[in-house]
Amino acid sequence: MERQSRFSYQCNQCGLCCHQKVITLSPYDVLRIARSRSIATSEAVRRFTSRRGSLLRFEADGGCSALRENRCSVHEGRPLACRLYPLGVERTEAGERLIQLDAEPLSRGTYGVDGTAGEFIDAQGVQPYFRALERYRTLVPEMRARVDAMVDFERVEPRDFWRRAVIEALLESNFDPNPLIEAIFDPDGLGCARETEDETIRAHVEKLGEMAAREDDAERLASAAVALAISLGYAPGEAIAGDRSAARSL
Ligand code: SF4
Repeated sequence: MERQSRFSYQCNQCGLCCHQKVITLSPYDVLRIARSRSIATSEAVRRFTSRRGSLLRFEADGGCSALRENRCSVHEGRPLACRLYPLGVERTEAGERLIQLDAEPLSRGTYGVDGTAGEFIDAQGVQPYFRALERYRTLVPEMRARVDAMVDFERVEPRDFWRRAVIEALLESNFDPNPLIEAIFDPDGLGCARETEDETIRAHVEKLGEMAAREDDAERLASAAVALAISLGYAPGEAIAGDRSAARSL
């Protein structure tokens, strides 16, 4: 789907689309959720996320942890995936493109062709999210390069090493303590809160870079690199295979 493709969608607040989803969160998603509720990012992680901050949390009844009587209680700071819905972003060799997701059965949302896909996503305020993704993505090759410098891959089988990193990054419980992964989703806890979001992101990216440069445990650093990459939209294989950032604002 192109930006100029005819598309429109009206949410009618039935709440059905806010059930039983798997929604990956970026550090910026967590920051926006926190700011929308005037809580610290650590509190947002605790209340609304799983997998150490990288997934939106859904309750046992299937509903999103932010859903209140069919309304989104973090609407001003809802994650990028929720803003794009029922569209999504697919990463390809050439960059990123919009796709239309399957409609939720019984949803009362109404589809049309009154506008374009680009107009639809722009009206959802997605551009700051894409800009933030690009800024956090600069950390991924830096972290991977440091891992490469620390590990003798002549002696350590790289596939096994990175496979372990992926498994550790995707664990939802019983994971090893990893301050860098916690820091990815908690800029406030790192002391990075500033007057503006822009300054907060700058301070956060800088601080994460410093932490990564100081990390002396290659396995911890590798799992943090994978956790960050996945949170920014890379598939696990991409996260370990090389930089294909090539992100552009849709
Ligand atoms: S964050 Fe809001 S819009 Fe997104 S799934 Fe939860 S309730 Fe729905």
